[in-house]
Amino acid sequence: MDVLFVSSEVAPFSKTGGLGDVAASLPGALSARGHRVAVVTPRYGGIDPQRHGFTWLTTSLEARGERCGLWLKKGGPGTPAVYLLEHDLFYGFRRNPYGEGGSDYPDNPARFAFLARAALELPRALQFRPAVVHFNDWQTALGPWFLRAEHHDDPWLAGARSVFTIHNLAYQGMFAKSFMDLLGLPWSIFRLDGGVEFHDQLNFMKAGLSFADALTTVSPNYAREILTVEGGYGLDTVLRSRSGDLFGILNGIDDREWDPARDPHLPVHYDRRDLRGKVRVKAALQAELGLPVKPHVPLVGLVGRLADQKGIDLLAAATPALLRSDAQFALLGSGQREFEEFFAWVGRERPDRFAARIGFDEGMAHRIEAGSDLFLMPSRFEPCGLNQMYSLRYGTPPVARAVGGLVDTVEDYDGWKRGNGFLFGPLDPVALVVATRRALDVWRDVRAWRGIQERGMDIDFSWERSAERYEALYRGLAEG
Ligand code: ADP
Repeated sequence: MDVLFVSSEVAPFSKTGGLGDVAASLPGALSARGHRVAVVTPRYGGIDPQRHGFTWLTTSLEARGERCGLWLKKGGPGTPAVYLLEHDLFYGFRRNPYGEGGSDYPDNPARFAFLARAALELPRALQFRPAVVHFNDWQTALGPWFLRAEHHDDPWLAGARSVFTIHNLAYQGMFAKSFMDLLGLPWSIFRLDGGVEFHDQLNFMKAGLSFADALTTVSPNYAREILTVEGGYGLDTVLRSRSGDLFGILNGIDDREWDPARDPHLPVHYDRRDLRGKVRVKAALQAELGLPVKPHVPLVGLVGRLADQKGIDLLAAATPALLRSDAQFALLGSGQREFEEFFAWVGRERPDRFAARIGFDEGMAHRIEAGSDLFLMPSRFEPCGLNQMYSLRYGTPPVARAVGGLVDTVEDYDGWKRGNGFLFGPLDPVALVVATRRALDVWRDVRAWRGIQERGMDIDFSWERSAERYEALYRGLAEG
């Protein structure tokens, strides 16, 4: 099948979260299964196309009278072709995908409407006839509407079906309704039922939910949660009306990049059969972070955005109690300033126990996943979550809140022979402390711990499995 995949971020060219990882891995896994996939994403100022092996094309696109240049990184068997769109809206004086200094670019609605429109010009320009166009998150959510309304007589997109994936329902792309005119959207779709209106505003996400032929989200449990009032962020009614077209497909992980047996970010390697290397990674990590190098003190890691979504407020509230355990903590993240400042301060006050690294550091993320004994993920909500899958693969059992994709991936230890981690339910710092203490107690039982580690390391989280499910969905649409 020929597939056009549109995303506002694609790792390693741009990435602010899980979307960037998915947009890199899923097209790769689909290509490996023999499909021809073209990935389209902007060239932001921070991307150096030549360094990543892109070449400049003489072909350009035109969308709504605007010319747009193209960079191509050629695909082949097992690798998708990636196109970077070069336009002033993305490139020029801006470096980042969405904003700078904590605020979004004010013209984001125009920027991302343009991305969806320009992507749909690609088939004609390159004489490529996709069976499916796959859009992702609010940034590209107008795409299914543009496909219906602006390409019904386009021979290159005739019969193409649209898939829209919700990576995070909390970010919906809501803007003043005056953008309807600015973006050239007809007022006939500014309606509550089957349209884009949301409390008198334009809601990009809702366009995807209303107009895509099929909807997916990134874990089966999140697919259930978003149908409820609590989990639906005001869009549960629309989602319930489309529940027959909504599928939860668990994300995979890049199991070449995240493999403790060959991870280039680690000083020593290990695998399920021989975990001795993990002990040495822990010692190196303790040294790197300036923590006392003590093998018999458990090391608890956390990597992620320091945001309410990730339950970082729970962690902050639990920190005094956690510091009373005989354990060390390694935290890597960036995000809300109050959390950055709080954890940096804890790190300065308790250098014997708590190491905080504020920032984004890929190598350090790998070393914390590998070198920690336990990994914390107290998320308030979690569409899928990647870090818990990395930690399971690295023999670092997670302590996670029982929400979203965490429920699909972490199984609570039953005190005997089942389970790969530790789950807690209440959105309460006390519950986090209790679960962490329970895990730390089990950690002292070397045999029980080894069983928990092995059950986690045995799970197949490869993209291969997820790609099979997307493929079945695409086929059903193309044939239906
Ligand atoms: P989300 O997409 O909600 O941020 P995920 O767990 O799905 O959460 O994915 C986050 C991705 O970003 C993971 O690959 C994680 O390792 C990475 N990441 C998050 N924060 C950092 C950081 N400070 N340094 C390095 N990697 C990070």
